[in-house]
Amino acid sequence: MNNLLRILSLTILTSHLPTALAEDAYIKSFEAYAQDLKAKTGDTHLSQSVLNYAEEVAKAEKKAGYIGKTLTLPPAIEVAPGVYTLVGSLIWHNPSNYGLNNNLTFMVFEDGVFVFNAGPNPAVAHAFHQQIKKITDKPVKWVAVENSQGHAYLGASYWVDKGVKHLYSHSVANRDFHNAFEHIKKSWGDRVGHEITQTARDVSGQFTTFDEPLRIKVGENEEVQIMNFGPGHTPGSTVVYVPSRNIVLPGDLAYNERMLALFSYTDTFQWTQTFENFVNAMPKDVIVIPGHGHPTTLAQVKIDTYDYLKFLQNAVQDLINKGGTEADVKEIDQSAYKDRPVYEQTHLQNAAHIYKEITGGDLGQSYE
Ligand SMILES: [Zn+2]
Repeated sequence: MNNLLRILSLTILTSHLPTALAEDAYIKSFEAYAQDLKAKTGDTHLSQSVLNYAEEVAKAEKKAGYIGKTLTLPPAIEVAPGVYTLVGSLIWHNPSNYGLNNNLTFMVFEDGVFVFNAGPNPAVAHAFHQQIKKITDKPVKWVAVENSQGHAYLGASYWVDKGVKHLYSHSVANRDFHNAFEHIKKSWGDRVGHEITQTARDVSGQFTTFDEPLRIKVGENEEVQIMNFGPGHTPGSTVVYVPSRNIVLPGDLAYNERMLALFSYTDTFQWTQTFENFVNAMPKDVIVIPGHGHPTTLAQVKIDTYDYLKFLQNAVQDLINKGGTEADVKEIDQSAYKDRPVYEQTHLQNAAHIYKEITGGDLGQSYE
């Protein structure tokens, strides 16, 4: 087939299909087949019927939210009556955990199901949805996401395709995800697999964004509060608090068990301040479903998040006061944390990040 024809047939196909669907490898295989047919037989009717079929598949795929094998995820655990969380892997996102290395939570209310975190891709969102359906007949009515990261947002198009109309995110997180969408999608696809990531679309335009706290009525006598206590791990983030169940979902504002990961956009000095604001606003006995790690208490996430940050900030400042360079951060004794998951991958980089924060160094560019 000559190049002009090739360009023409591609133009026809992409004008037929929404761009994100045309990127789907399965749909693309029909496109290649249609081109091949036209080249070999010169039969435009046959090749057009293949393209029409591809369009039907694309539509069916959109309706289903995800077509493919159902991934096997660990079962969700019940944290409080009607509150379930699927504790993600405590290590880096990779093909073995399908990108599920944060927590996905759902809460069953009188008027429907509230989901926190859309999942790292449509395949995980779909598998998570199957678990929800085993526990309740109620529809998923609300989805909120913790921050701008791939494992919070890339599954969102699945929920939109399943008819969820109420999606919530902090205004800054929604903007950051939208602006970096192509990079974030590529990065997560490269890390966990393009097959399960490729149908993720940027649906940030469908989100209700907030700056001031929102209160969502979820039943006769219950409400979910959606709020933000300031920047930190990410510039924008969402905390979901349910007073009637004594549950809070702080997202990556609070970690349990695992070492913290600091990215180019992480401001640790704001994070500690934001953490204080958060703790001060919560009842002391609230149950915390953290961004990473098992459900726990406020006291525990303070040790694993805030206390670690304070320790490292002070240690790096001491080093700088003594004239230490960035290379000297390896002298800081972080061995008290050595048994935590991802210690090897994070501890030196965490100290270097704080060194750069204090000295005004280049923090790089992360697309997580
Ligand atoms: Zn995260």
